[in-house]
Amino acid sequence: MCLICVEFQKQKMTIKEARRALGEMIVGLEGEHVEEIEKMLKAAEEESE
Ligand SMILES: [Zn+2]
Repeated sequence: MCLICVEFQKQKMTIKEARRALGEMIVGLEGEHVEEIEKMLKAAEEESE
């Protein structure tokens, strides 16, 4: 869990904002967790279509 997950799950962040935040925070995150976030955002995008 990181700030992106927490804010996104509380719906305080949109998919677009989460993607931007991920781009900014990617250096400080574990590769495995980045994949998890990407999966989470992808699923959310598919749901919103
Ligand atoms: Zn996280």
